[in-house]
Amino acid sequence: MANSMEHYFDNSATTKPSAAAMAALANAAEAWGNPSSVHSHGQRAAAVLKDSRSKLSKALGLQRFSKDMLLFTSCGTESNNIAILGCARSKKRTPNGRGLLGTIIITAGEHPSIDNPATLLEKEGYAVIRIPTTGGEIDMDVLNNALDTAPAPVIFASFMLVNNETGAIYDVKRAASLVKIKYPDATVHCDAVQGFMKLRFTPATLGVDALTVSAHKIHAPRGAAALFISAETIKRKNIVPVMPGGGQESGFRSGTENLLSIAAFAAAAEEGTANFDENTARVKALRTYLEDQLLEKCPELRYNKPANCLSNICSIILPAIKSETMLNYLSGRGVYVSAGSACSAYSKKKSGALEAFGTTAADADSTLRISLSYTNTEEDIDALVEGLAEGIKGLQKKR
Ligand code: PLP
Repeated sequence: MANSMEHYFDNSATTKPSAAAMAALANAAEAWGNPSSVHSHGQRAAAVLKDSRSKLSKALGLQRFSKDMLLFTSCGTESNNIAILGCARSKKRTPNGRGLLGTIIITAGEHPSIDNPATLLEKEGYAVIRIPTTGGEIDMDVLNNALDTAPAPVIFASFMLVNNETGAIYDVKRAASLVKIKYPDATVHCDAVQGFMKLRFTPATLGVDALTVSAHKIHAPRGAAALFISAETIKRKNIVPVMPGGGQESGFRSGTENLLSIAAFAAAAEEGTANFDENTARVKALRTYLEDQLLEKCPELRYNKPANCLSNICSIILPAIKSETMLNYLSGRGVYVSAGSACSAYSKKKSGALEAFGTTAADADSTLRISLSYTNTEEDIDALVEGLAEGIKGLQKKR
C-alpha cells in the first residue's frame, strides 16, 4: 500500500479509489451542468453520463443495441431495493386462498439490502423462502422443493454471486435456471456486488433478469452503483419504479445523477476489465502467500472456508478471542480488517451470512474477515500475520 505503515485488508467493505477513477472524477467535475438540461452545460454532462453508461455496459458484457437497461443508482443497496420492491409493486396482486400475494425466494446468506426488504414484503403479505447455504453452497434440493411447494406463485428470486462475509461463490446460473423452469415469468435478480471485477460473468451467462453492481467495491469512490434490467423484464413490466420523481434513469431512479461518482465508476470498470487477468492472478498469488504464512505462524486459526471460494475473501476464526478485541489490536498496529461485514457494524444482530454458512455463534463472535485487493503487497501480509500471531499470544494470555 502507499503508506507503508498502513495495511488495508477491508477491501470487501470499500476499496481505495484508483488513480484512473479519480482522474475521471476530476474530469467529470468540469461537466458541472445537469445532464437533463438542454443547454450546452447540460449537454456536456449528458455526454459524460452517456459515455459512462457505455463503458459500464461494456464491462458487464451487455449487447450494444439491445433494449436492456443499465440504471445508475447511488449504491448497491438502492439497486437491490429497486429490484425487489419494484418487482413486488409491479402488478396488482390479490391474496390467494392462503392470504398470500406471492412467493419471494432468496438465499439464507443474502446481504441485508436484499434480506431486509424481503422481510418488509413478508409483513405486507408475501411468503419469503430463504434457501440454506450451509458450507457456502445454495442447497439446490431445497430450492427445487421450495419451487414445487411454494405457498403462492414465485414472483421474484435473488441469489448473490459471492457472499460478502465468507467469499463463497454461489452457482447463480443453476439456481436461476431452476427458478425459470418452474416459473418462467418470475424475475431472477443477482446481487453481484462482491463478484464484479473478480469473476467473469454477464447477466446473460448467469441467466438473470436483473443484476446489481457497486462502485466502491471496484476501486471507485462511493456514491454510484448500477442496476441492470433486461429488455424482457422491462417489456413485461416485471419491475416498475418505486421512487417517483423527475424521471431520470428512464424513470426507474429519479433524482439528478451523481455524475462524478458515475464517471469514476465507469473508469474503474474499464480499468478493471483491461487488467482482469493480471489482477486476478495477483490476488490469487497473495491468497496463497497469506494461507502459507497463516499456516506456519498462526496454526491455531480455523477457517470459514467454502468449497468454492473467491481468493479475495479469507474468513478466519480466532482461538477464543473476540473479533472486536483482535480488530482493535490490529488497528493499533495499522492493520485494518473487519469483523463480519462492515454493514453489520451498525447492528447488534449476529451475522446472518455466517449463521447461514454453518458457523456457530461462538465462532462467529471470533471471526475476522481479511479481504484482499490487487493493491495489497506481501509486506502487508507479513504485517498482518505478525500482528495476528502476536495478538493471539498476548490477547489469549490476558483472558
Ligand atoms: N451486496 C453485497 C453482497 C455487499 O457486500 C454490499 C456491501 O457490502 C451491498 C450489497 C451493498 O452495497 P452498497 O454499500 O453499495 O450499498
